[in-house]
Amino acid sequence: MAHVLCPNCGHQGSRVLESRGSEEGAAVRRRRQCSKCEHRFTTYERCEHQPLFVIKRDGRRQPFDREKLRGGLERASHKRPVPPEAIDALVDRIESAAVRSGGEIRAARVGEMCLGGLRRIDQVAYLQFAAVYRQLGVEDVQAELDRLTPEMTSKL
Ligand SMILES: [Zn+2]
Repeated sequence: MAHVLCPNCGHQGSRVLESRGSEEGAAVRRRRQCSKCEHRFTTYERCEHQPLFVIKRDGRRQPFDREKLRGGLERASHKRPVPPEAIDALVDRIESAAVRSGGEIRAARVGEMCLGGLRRIDQVAYLQFAAVYRQLGVEDVQAELDRLTPEMTSKL
């Protein structure tokens, strides 16, 4: 369900109030609220077609962009012996985590999973990824970074 329209006013944007997940592949019941007229309604969405979102620290939601995520991980792995399958597997894991949590995942969690995954694959790729996040000033990822590796990040 790529576009959920408000049954009351036809507006496309809505906020998820509540998600009730079930086993993978089954329908997910969502309570939504239209961001225009505030009408509340319920949708039943199937996991495999469900739109995924990343929730930023300020609460804004962005569509989960698989390619963008893969691109970031590939840049971090530039000239490193990181097999593309390992990147794919990591992206898959993050996507699955978003599906399991009702189609939404916090940006900090994405960053944490990227870092955790890269760290197991290649230490240098991990540090390069961490460095990019520091440059961008992504505070929540920074917090996760500090929590994960105080001794390593202090050297960057
Ligand atoms: Zn509406």
